[in-house]
This record gives sequence, structure tokens and C-alpha cells, in this order.
Amino acid sequence: MNTRVVESSVPRLSSYVAGEWREGKGEEQTLVNPSSGEAVARCSTDGLDLGLALDFARNQAGPALRAMTFAARANVLAQIAEALAKRRERWYEIARINSGNTKADAAVDIDGSIGTLKYFAKLGAGLGNAKILVDAPASRLTRDPNFQAVHVGVPLRGVAVHINAYNFPAWGLWEKASVSLLSGVPVLTKPATATAWLAQEMVQCIAEAELLPKGSLSIICGSVQDLFHHLRMGDVICFTGSAATGQMIRNDPAVRSRGVRINVEADSLNATILGLDAEAGSQAFSSFVREVVQEMTVKAGQKCTAIRRIFVPVSQSHVVRDAIAAELQEIKVGDPANAEVRMGPLVNMPQRLTVAEGIARLRAECEVAYREDPLKIVDADVNRGAFVSPTLLYANRGNHSQLWNELEVFGPVATLIPYGDQGEAFSIAAQGGGSLVASVFSADPTFMTEAALALAASHGRVLLADPSIESSHTGHGIVLPSCLHGGPGRAGGGEELGGFRGLWFYHQRAVLQGSSAVLNKITEIAVNPPSAQS
Ligand code: NAP
Repeated sequence: MNTRVVESSVPRLSSYVAGEWREGKGEEQTLVNPSSGEAVARCSTDGLDLGLALDFARNQAGPALRAMTFAARANVLAQIAEALAKRRERWYEIARINSGNTKADAAVDIDGSIGTLKYFAKLGAGLGNAKILVDAPASRLTRDPNFQAVHVGVPLRGVAVHINAYNFPAWGLWEKASVSLLSGVPVLTKPATATAWLAQEMVQCIAEAELLPKGSLSIICGSVQDLFHHLRMGDVICFTGSAATGQMIRNDPAVRSRGVRINVEADSLNATILGLDAEAGSQAFSSFVREVVQEMTVKAGQKCTAIRRIFVPVSQSHVVRDAIAAELQEIKVGDPANAEVRMGPLVNMPQRLTVAEGIARLRAECEVAYREDPLKIVDADVNRGAFVSPTLLYANRGNHSQLWNELEVFGPVATLIPYGDQGEAFSIAAQGGGSLVASVFSADPTFMTEAALALAASHGRVLLADPSIESSHTGHGIVLPSCLHGGPGRAGGGEELGGFRGLWFYHQRAVLQGSSAVLNKITEIAVNPPSAQS
């Protein structure tokens, strides 16, 4: 992505704020086709009145959304999903042009977002005419059984500012917006500029359909400008992106001084472990190899959940290395407009440079087990497209470098690390500093149990793939709306989704103390305790 004034034939992405489409002025940022380097769109937020945008959302959309029940808001989510599903081909086209996505890559983003909206539409329909949450039935406080307390959640009276990473322009938008809108909190979304086109056109599609109260869903295309300066109590920031940007937002004086609630989903060194029992030819072994190759190459490895560290018993490490390398060799890299291409480019040239630097640093510590050099590219020019070869690195036993536990290379890159015993595997996996996901492939229930207990403290999700769920599990990298998404430590410490649990982020918890008659009256509009919800 460049910052410059480009020729006017390149379409300009406007922002939707205060219920109107507005264009920024001044210097513009350019979005490119990463396969060819051509400019495909431009945008700017310079001069937009973002204070007005937030006020409009707070004062116009907030009350209108809060007046609706969960079921009514859920019904809107269902209609949004339907409207988006009708234009699926258009979304795929934008994802190919602006993100370099193959069809399979685009499906994760686009179908994932529609599926998430449908999931929350269904969950919300089940919450019926309620408007608030309770987390447990009222309980007595003193000897008098009539004096009780109940903890409730009321929707926040501000705006949810959603800042997204470049790799999931559609899913990032809707996985956050579906939970926020279902909770009755208006959204101002900011896609990463490099791939903002898809999010912008999706918001346009929904704005034109007039499904939501005006101001419920705003979008800014370009940088945040002075947005944080206008935030206040009741507003929230939900950020996805690099750890460095997450840290900067957390430390923003306006965010800190006004106690703005913040959720951070940052980078992650996800691990996968092959069990000690899984020998070459076993089901666990072949599933493991397939999963690693898939995770390295889908979206050219630009998934926050992608496998970065591969732990393999030392006795199997050469066989696994060779099996992964053999499958990587079959991956055709190039312009995803060609249906034979299985892996497209990275998002842009700066990202290619960053990934090349990351590979060079890892190479200084490890052997290269697979890398196509020179890389053959289908239907594209190596000098103009942001292509990199899938790269498998191998850490020899006795190598005490920690780099693979520290450096996230956001591309088709992973490091294989042989381990001696399970204690060693679990302890190195935990040294990633906190990650989104770990997966374990084994047919040994004892190994699985010990892995789960050891890894859950440092990974937000643990997939225990034994052969009985071989054909039914959804894979290492797929985030499901019913399950928690987030991880401790460097992964940001955030929590998103998780079905019903996710609604709490957009509610203020308070305890109400009073007579049972008054509390019963209030909780008539509350959702039943969540034990009944998924
Ligand atoms: P990034 O550079 O940190 O940008 C993320 C978002 O923050 C973009 O919308 C960006 O806007 C915005 N931003 C940048 N500087 C900002 C500032 N000073 N104030 C407010 N917003 C600011 O990350 P990225 O390169 O897009 O994404 C890659 C990273 O995201 C990887 O590290 C990956 O692991 C992580 N990620 C994590 C998850 C997760 O769920 N945990 C999911 C996806 C990606 P501009 O584009 O306009 O600069």
C-alpha cells in the first residue's frame, strides 16, 4: 500500500459516517492487486468529522438498537447474512483482486463471515424478547429472604470501534459486528487500509438495504486520525492486528485516561504437536502432515491461527520433514485468477519484504527443509507480484535458539522442532509467550489429556485431534463462532466470539440489590442464566 495521489481513474472508497457517505481529502492511500502491483482503489479519512460520527452512532443508533429485543436484532443479522450471501460472487472477485485470494482462501473469509452472522442470528432468536443479561439467578443476601441481589448486564451506551487486520476484511468485520449489534451496541468499523475495499462494499450493500437503524454500522476507510480523542466511557475498542499496534492503542492517552474498554487480538506463534505414538503410516501422522501443509498455504499463511511451530518426536522428525516438503512441492503459486493456483501472493510488496526478512532471520538459526528457489510463478511477474515460496525450516536437536518462539513470520512459513519427550514438547510450546491455538495429533488419550492440561494455560484454543474425529473436526486454523477466539500474553489477552459468552464484552455488568418482587420484575426482560446457552 502506498501513500500518494493516484490517477483519478482508480475508484475512491468513501467512508460511511453519521449515516452518510463522505470522502476524505488530501493525501490518499492506494490499495493494490498483490498479484500485479496495479492500483485498484484509493482512500483517505483526512478531514472527516469522526467526533460527529461517534456522536451520531451513540445518540441516534444506540437508543434505537437498545429499544429492540435480542430476537429483533437477531432477525436483522439473519437478513444481513442473506443480503451478503446473494452477492457472494462479487465478494470473491474483490478478495481475489485486492487480497490475492484463491477461491478456497476467500471462502474462509467470506463464507466464514456469513456463517458467523447466521450463527448469532440463531443464537439471538433463542434469546427471545429479552433486552438484558443475567449471569445467575437472584440470591438472598441476609436473613430476610426478600432482600436479594442479581448480577445483570446492560448494553453499553457507547460505540464499538472495531479495528481489523488486513488478512480477514470480511470475517473481521462481521465476527465483531454480529456480536456487537446483537448486544445493541452500534459499530464503527475500520478495516486495514490495504484490503478495505471488500469491507467497504459489504457495508455499502447493507446500508443500501436499510436493515439497521441509521448510524448502527459506520465504516472509515483510511487511518483513524483523531478518532480516539473522541472516545469516552461506554465506548469500546476491539482491535485485531500486530502486537506492536495493539500495544500502541492500549497506551493511547485518550484510551487510557477515559477507561475505554479494549479487547486485543494480536499476533501468535501457534503450535502443533505430533504425539509420541504417531508413526509414519498411522492416521494421526497423515492428518498431521495434511494439516500442516494446509495451514502453511491457505491465505499464503496470513492467518492469525496458522501453524508456525511444528513439534515432532525426534524419531519421526526426518520422515515428517520429508513428507511435508513433498506436499509443499505440489503447491502451485501464482495469480489466483488461474484456477490451478493453490497459493496466491501476500497482501503487498512491503509484506513480502517483511516476510523475506523474517525467513532470513530464521534461516540463520535453522536448516531450510523446503523452499522453491527460484520460485516458479503462474501467470504473474515475480518482480511485480508479492509472491513468496512456502518455506519449511528445520531446527536441529541441540539448537538452543529461541527465535521460533519469538518471531511471527506472517506468511507461508513454519519451523519444525524435534522433541525428546512430552514434557519437552509441552514446555517449548508454552514458550511462544501466549498463542491463539495449539493442536495435538495422537491416538493416545493419556498423551492428549496431559497435552490439553499443559497447553490450555498458554493457548486460547486446543484442538485434540484423535482419529475418531478425523473426518469431523474443523481443523487447526478455523475459528468457530460458538468457541472462544483469543489467547493470553502476546496474543493480546483478548476474548472474542464464544457464543453467548461474547455478548458480555458489549454489556456493563452491575449488581442490583432489592426486594425479590422488584428484581423479579426487572429480570422479566433478562435472558435466562447462560448455563442453558451454547
Ligand atoms: P497492523 O499493522 O497492526 O494493523 C491492524 C489494524 O490497526 C489496521 O486496521 C491498521 O490500520 C490499524 N492501525 C495501525 N496503526 C494504528 C494506530 N496507530 N492506531 C489505530 N489503528 C492503527 O496489523 P496487520 O498487518 O493488518 O495484520 C497482521 C497482524 O495481525 C499479524 O501480526 C497477525 O498475527 C495479526 N492478526 C491477529 C488476529 C487475531 O485474531 N488474533 C487476526 C488476524 C491478524 P491501517 O491498515 O490503516 O494501517
